[in-house]
Amino acid sequence: MKNFSYKKFMLIFGINFLIVFLLFILIYLKPPKPLKFSEDNLLAAVLIPHPPLMLEEVGGLYSLFIKKTVISVEKALKEIVQAKPDTIIIITPHSKIRNNCFSIYAENDLYGDFTKYNVPKNVKVQAQSDVGFIKKLIERLTETSLKLSSLNPGTKLDHGVTVPLYFLNKAGFEGKIVVINHSEQGIQEHLELGRLIRKVIDSYKDKKFVFIASGSLSHNLKPFAPNEYIPETIEFDKTIIKAFKEGNYNLITGIDRELEEITLQCGYKPIIIGLGIINKTPLNNQVLSYEAPVGVGYLVAEF
Ligand SMILES: [Zn+2]
Repeated sequence: MKNFSYKKFMLIFGINFLIVFLLFILIYLKPPKPLKFSEDNLLAAVLIPHPPLMLEEVGGLYSLFIKKTVISVEKALKEIVQAKPDTIIIITPHSKIRNNCFSIYAENDLYGDFTKYNVPKNVKVQAQSDVGFIKKLIERLTETSLKLSSLNPGTKLDHGVTVPLYFLNKAGFEGKIVVINHSEQGIQEHLELGRLIRKVIDSYKDKKFVFIASGSLSHNLKPFAPNEYIPETIEFDKTIIKAFKEGNYNLITGIDRELEEITLQCGYKPIIIGLGIINKTPLNNQVLSYEAPVGVGYLVAEF
């Protein structure tokens, strides 16, 4: 033990620890792949999670826990702004969910803030609604048995919209939005609404659109998740990820109803509407990032 040097040992240990830590950071925070854009009216369709924690103003240092998702979401939304869509259609799961009816923010000027997360009022988001698109959609609805009702005037945007809109506004988005809330109805009604939205998109000659399904996956993936830990729900997230990777969307519509219910997810119905929009045919399918460090599955993917 004559040659043992505690200082030398600590130095070598420290250097090795630093190398492993830096490698971890490099791999973990590797920039995600860029979005792929199509050349027709529908430029892209994406799935974006919406934890308010992603905003530094809300999460503070806690936003570091989901840094991978923050980087992925911010990058994807910036690329969307750079592609200059005229209108972004957003499906949110967090305003008014009705039994037999979809809901829409029908007013001209839409806005929201983060005051319920103790963020000052001056941190707010806003966008104009594409009322022309909404009018066309309502006309088309008469061809079906689907119903769409307007939310009360003055209803503030919920966090399913304010979170992505925060990053869109930050990236300089100047287009319009259409915000629809899903309903309690089944898969078929949600697929049908998606197909109808696509018909309206395709009815324009020179207008460009992007679709955003706003939602997160299972909410009970870890013992410290916000809800009671249910290990089986990882199967739900794995299936959704596999479906986006392979472009095999029957995997999503085929998910067992009981499994879907216990996940307490908020992204399933927005995804189903997206599948209606792309008619279950992959547009530019890819997985950009996935993580669940706080027990909630955050997937960023392209349909
Ligand atoms: Zn949610």
